[in-house]
Amino acid sequence: MSLLNEILSHNQTFVTDKQYEPFITTKFPDKRLVILTCMDTRLVELLPKAMNLKNGDVKMVKSAGAVINHPFGGIMRSLLVAVYELQADEIYIIGHYDCGMSAIDPDQMLQKMVNRGISEETIQMLKYSGVKLDEWLRGFNEVQEAVKNSVDMVVNHPLMVKDVPVHGLVIHPATGQLDVVVDGNK
Ligand SMILES: [Zn+2]
Repeated sequence: MSLLNEILSHNQTFVTDKQYEPFITTKFPDKRLVILTCMDTRLVELLPKAMNLKNGDVKMVKSAGAVINHPFGGIMRSLLVAVYELQADEIYIIGHYDCGMSAIDPDQMLQKMVNRGISEETIQMLKYSGVKLDEWLRGFNEVQEAVKNSVDMVVNHPLMVKDVPVHGLVIHPATGQLDVVVDGNK
């Protein structure tokens, strides 16, 4: 059985047996906050548990490394929508130790693309067209620094409400311990 079929088969049982009932809630976050964190597998259940969050409590936005790499990209737009349309009154940006994004080497990743069938010509063409692939793919050295940069981008965004606190934290992916990098209430 393919993974897709496995998932669909489980899904049928899930819906038929009404296993969704404990999760029923609204689109508005009960704790009135939005979190931007990393897509890391270790955080899927650990982060909400470590922060005492359940279904319905928060808006959750995820990106590789919890990085906002464009002030007018999809991540920033999601944070603005959460604040203006969905009653989020606080923003938490949560990076984590041992993040895969800290190890990304743009040159190596481009080589992997070539190995997987993307032509050198395509990559050169994008570079000549002004796409800064190296910059776009680059990870970060220090997670604290990356979190601070994301906090700065949100705090200084021309469209962000000025009285919304923006906190920066780093979570340990094994223990769930949170370290504060920026206390947005100060
Ligand atoms: Zn990560």
